[in-house]
Amino acid sequence: MKTEEWINTEEYRELNFARKALVINPTKACQPLGAFFCASGFENTLPYEHGSQGCTAYFRNNLSRHYREPFPAVSDSMTEDAAVFGGRANMIEGLKNAYSLYKPALIAMCTSCMSEVIGDDLKAFISNAKDEGAIPKDFPVAPAHTPSFVGSHLTGYDLMLQGIITTLGEEHFDASKKTDKVNLIPGFDAHVENIRELRRYLEMMGVDVTVLADNSETFDSPLTGEYHPYLGKTTLAETADCVNAAATVSMQAYATPKTLADFKGKYEQQVAAFNYPLGVGGFDAFLTRVSELTGKPIPAEITSERGKAVDAATDAHPYFHGKRFALFGDPDLMLGLTAFLLEMGGEPVHIVSTNGTKKWKKEMEALLSSSPYGASATVYPGHDLWHMRSLLMTDPVDMIIGNSHGKYAARDAGIPHVRIGFPIVDRVNLHRYATLGYRGAVNLITWIANAFIEEKDRTSDDAHFELLR
Ligand code: SF4
Repeated sequence: MKTEEWINTEEYRELNFARKALVINPTKACQPLGAFFCASGFENTLPYEHGSQGCTAYFRNNLSRHYREPFPAVSDSMTEDAAVFGGRANMIEGLKNAYSLYKPALIAMCTSCMSEVIGDDLKAFISNAKDEGAIPKDFPVAPAHTPSFVGSHLTGYDLMLQGIITTLGEEHFDASKKTDKVNLIPGFDAHVENIRELRRYLEMMGVDVTVLADNSETFDSPLTGEYHPYLGKTTLAETADCVNAAATVSMQAYATPKTLADFKGKYEQQVAAFNYPLGVGGFDAFLTRVSELTGKPIPAEITSERGKAVDAATDAHPYFHGKRFALFGDPDLMLGLTAFLLEMGGEPVHIVSTNGTKKWKKEMEALLSSSPYGASATVYPGHDLWHMRSLLMTDPVDMIIGNSHGKYAARDAGIPHVRIGFPIVDRVNLHRYATLGYRGAVNLITWIANAFIEEKDRTSDDAHFELLR
């Protein structure tokens, strides 16, 4: 009992923040999970991990739990002998089996910690597999080295995307054959409905877009009684051609640095990067930039949708004003959510991102200092949800926003928890709702305001249990 009370004190918080050699409940996942997520958006593409089965089981399990969909992926099952002699034999047999059994058009290959620690060279082993006839010489295998002892699922997403574009597109690049298409990279976005929404807006503007990559069907497929293992919507032909597009827009700058650098440098394109542009202001900036890049105006039907979102924000504004928030998750999501809360008059207080960097902290602080509502905030890169618990117990807030892993800290602190991010494994269907766009803004406003109202109803005594809220 004494310990239970002690871990809620300032003294414990200081000790907790002095911790160096242990991470507890981090707000990030492994690199290959991001690589699998990325690969699943491409047509007839099989995610393949050169490593141990346990890692692949964990990634499949995490993705299946969040989306409540099966997730097909393979590993070449490295065990102790591969750790000693290297994984070349595993890869040759694995590629042969994967190619003949699952008949993909592309294999997207990443690594795990084990194959990275022993130093396996993907390109050399893939070439060996082709020389030995395990797969045809011209069969595309896109490699990405994704060691999880550095980086996070965002690094893996970026490296896999870069690997696939290089494998399919590099030889098609021709600066004299530029198209007027725009590449749109959604990033590691847990709410796959966002991809459909982004397509809808760009269609209304008449923008010819290639989404790199569209996994909206993979993670939200119809239940028809028939199983299709490959539902990625981005075709391999349009991926090969994406290097000749006029411009590339990333919705998540921190999930796409290497890929964007290639588009800007190697493929000589205009690039624009956003930080998960949530809320009305964030989406205004996105559409304005797309309009500048393409010369296409924003049509009246979009302006009308925007007006509805502004109306919803005005109606809900009193429920946000002056409320204190704790946020956790990926760096881009934190920037997007913070901008949205500041726009609504909410006060972000504790912001934790395990995969946040010093550069991200500076960007967060610049954003917070742009509004009087940001004055009480502290930004914590490289911290985890056990740090967050200490913050909530010693400096209370009114709500926490983040993925399902925040529920323990929320319960201990006795505050409502709105689920946004990855993974969400204790609520249903949230990935089927957009968070981006003007409709997405209405969803965010509704979830957060109603969570406060429900909390008020739940905690009111009889004298204050009002019909109107
Ligand atoms: S940390 Fe490394 S070994 Fe562990 S699951 Fe992730 S990739 Fe596999």
